[in-house]
Parts: sequence; C-alpha cells; structure tokens
Amino acid sequence: MSAIKCAIAKPGQIKAECIEMSENPELTERYGVGSVPHTIFNEGAHDVMGLLPEERFVVEMVYLKSAEDMLAEGSLPGMEEGKTPSGYGTIEPGEVDLVIVGAGPAGLTAGIYAVRAGLKAVVLEKHIVGGQVALTPIVENYPGFVSVPGKQLMDIMSEHAREYLPVHEGESVDAIQMGNMKEGETIIVTTSRGVYSAKALILTTGATYRKLGAVGEDTYFGRGINYCASCDGYLYKGKSVAIIGGGNTALTDALHLKNLGVNVSIIHRGDTFRAQKPLQDSVNHEQIPILWNTIVEEIEGDGRRVNNLKIRNLMTRAVTDMPVDGAFVAIGQEASTGLAKSLGVKLKEDGFVKVESDMRTNLPRVYAAGDLTGGLQQIVTAIGEGSIAAMSAFEDISHPYWKK
Ligand SMILES: Cc1cc2nc3c(=O)[nH]c(=O)nc-3n(C[C@H](O)[C@H](O)[C@H](O)COP(=O)(O)OP(=O)(O)OC[C@H]3O[C@@H](n4cnc5c(N)ncnc54)[C@H](O)[C@@H]3O)c2cc1C
Repeated sequence: MSAIKCAIAKPGQIKAECIEMSENPELTERYGVGSVPHTIFNEGAHDVMGLLPEERFVVEMVYLKSAEDMLAEGSLPGMEEGKTPSGYGTIEPGEVDLVIVGAGPAGLTAGIYAVRAGLKAVVLEKHIVGGQVALTPIVENYPGFVSVPGKQLMDIMSEHAREYLPVHEGESVDAIQMGNMKEGETIIVTTSRGVYSAKALILTTGATYRKLGAVGEDTYFGRGINYCASCDGYLYKGKSVAIIGGGNTALTDALHLKNLGVNVSIIHRGDTFRAQKPLQDSVNHEQIPILWNTIVEEIEGDGRRVNNLKIRNLMTRAVTDMPVDGAFVAIGQEASTGLAKSLGVKLKEDGFVKVESDMRTNLPRVYAAGDLTGGLQQIVTAIGEGSIAAMSAFEDISHPYWKK
C-alpha cells in the first residue's frame, strides 16, 4: 500500500509493482520472498519483511537502509547532531497523563476511554496498529460483525481511537523507570523516538508466537520458517511443509495448508493431540501424515532457504533427516511480559500478569489489560479489560489511593 501511494505521489521517480506470489512463482523464487508482505527496493538493494508504518517506509525507501540501523548510527533524519528523533508521529514525546503500550484491541480501547475521561494519553506501538488481530484473516465472533477480516476490524478500531488520541506506530517502548511516587515523580518511558513523562501506564503488550528454540530457527525466519499459516501458507503451494505442534492451532494450520495444495505433515512431540476432537477427525480424514513422539532439533538450509529438518524420535532416540521446503511453528503463544517484568510487576504462576478485577497490578500507577493478563484471550475480553484499565487509571490519577 505504501509503495503504491509513493508511486502515485511521485510518478516520475517511483515505480511500484505488486506481485501476487501464487501467480508469479519464478519472481517469488528469484527475490527470495519469505513472508507477506515482502517489499524489495531497487531489485534487492534493500528489503523489508512485514508491514512498515508509512513514515518508516519512506525513510527506508529513500536511504535503502533499515531505520533501526540508521537509529543506531545516529543518521536517522531528524536526529542529526545527537538530537532525539522527532517529527515521526502526530505528537512529540513529552508530558502526558497516560502512556499506553501496544496498539492491539486492548490498547486502542484504553486510549478511547482514557481521553473521553479527560486524560491526555498516547498509544505507542512498536509494529503496526492492530496487534494479533491484524494478522487474523477472518474474525467471526466479534459482536456486530458476522464475519470481518481482522485487518479491517482493526482499521475501523484504530480510526475510531485516532479520533481521540495519537497512536504512534513503529515506536517501541524500550525502557520504563517508575520514579519515586511519594516525591511526586512521574514515570519515565523511553522509546525508540524519545522520552515521555507520564502519571500512569497501561501495559497492553499482548502475546506473541512461542518459538521452538531449535538451532537455525532465527537464521531461517521468513526464509522457510514461519509462524502464521493463514498469512504465509500460500507461499508453499505444491511444496513440502511440516507443521510443528499438536494443539488446535497446529491442526487448523495443517488443514488450511492441505486445502491450499501444500504437501503437509505434522510433527508432534507427544503421542496424542491436545486439539479438539473434530479437528483431529478432519486431520485423519485428510490423511495428513503425523510424526508422533518427534521433535525438531535443527533447521538446516543452504543459507538462503530451509531445505531440511533434523528430527529426533523420542522413543528410539534416532535422528533422521526430513527434507522440507518450509516449516510452520504452531506451539502456542506466550505473553509479552518483558516490560512488566523489568518494572517488577507480579506475574501469575502461568506467566501472565497478575491483575485485580480493576486491572490494577501490584505497582500503583501501572495497569495491564488484554492477552497479557491471560484468561480468555479474545478481542472482546481485551477491549473490556482495556476500558476498565483506563477507568482505573483515571480514578487513580484523580484520587491517588496510595496517598490515602
Ligand atoms: C491467528 C490468531 C487468530 C485469532 N482469532 C481470533 C478471533 O477470531 N476472535 C477473537 O476474539 N480473538 C482471536 N485471536 C485472539 C486475539 O487476537 C487476541 O486476544 C487480541 O489480539 C489481544 O489483544 P491485545 O490488545 O491484548 O494484544 P495484541 O493484539 O497482542 O496487541 C499487543 C500489541 O502490543 C505491541 N507491543 C508489544 N510490546 C511492545 C513494546 N515494547 N512497545 C510498543 N508496542 C509493543 C505489539 O506489537 C502488539 O501490536 C486470534 C489470535 C491469533 C494469533
């Protein structure tokens, strides 16, 4: 989308072509396309996997370099002579009542409720707006929409939120210092763009795909190793792919790939699936091969793409080769608790953030909502918790309970 917009804005200078991979397998192969979307600038002078915020897209297109590298070297436009980069969002970093970390359903809802209650707030998002829902092809259980593409639902939600407050994409929260509240000190939030001083903080950092931890997994991410079958499955039409996992996601992914015409097998460390019975029945019906009691120890390739998995049978201990064109890791999600832990926020035994029913954490002025708190991890629960967290923050900013 950004590429097409640039081409329309500067027709003499910029040409953009959108390639449908299933119709252009040779081009897909030639450019080493590994995920959707994958942008290749100037025949490979620079490439980017995933969506970029518009501002960042333009910077990377002009300089043919990653914005992170430019930030590290101090050459990102706007931060010359050691200045903090600014001008990449709709408000400058600075003093606010509330910083909300994460622009998934929980964060966007918290933003709407906070500003409607009279707080000055900002939502900071390290990737693109929408969180996990933006990657979900179809949502069918969000009341009011019988069936809606996840990206479309989140576009509507973010447009709504932006009526009230700035939502900064491509701005990751890197560190937070609580400050001494008894002395009236604010919370200092350091991001990839600047520093905010806030009276309260809502963490809605959600969850991410759990990694396998096999050798080669990071090296071949997006080059044969993927985590989202609904996003990247059709890259593998007519090819051989392993799904790693034994739960609902793994079996749904396997059926989805089979339906796309992928030659799919399932690798599962146990001898029974955790997935629902109807999914297991469908996998049997489709005659998808299953390797029970098997783990992936190493992911191998030619440096460019995956071509083999070293797998171990846990019963016989034998290690064998499994030639594949790719593998989808589907072993669940884990909460993104890095920031929470760094602050000293208490977690539950299952690793999710511990909150009271009002979304307060153990730290005054810090709230959490959405998938980060565990439980029923769905859009409706995330938005419910986001609204409660915002109202608790408003109440505490107005009448700090720790001063009573
Ligand atoms: C494949 C799939 C399909 C799903 N289908 C459905 C469905 O049909 N219906 C349904 O109700 N639910 C569905 N879900 C679950 C739903 O997506 C989640 O419950 C929901 O997205 C949780 O919202 P959230 O705001 O808590 O977190 P998330 O959506 O995870 O958003 C968290 C955001 O925080 C950002 N973030 C993290 N760390 C930082 C940082 N340090 N700085 C800045 N930003 C940060 C992340 O980039 C992310 O955008 C699905 C999930 C998946 C993975």
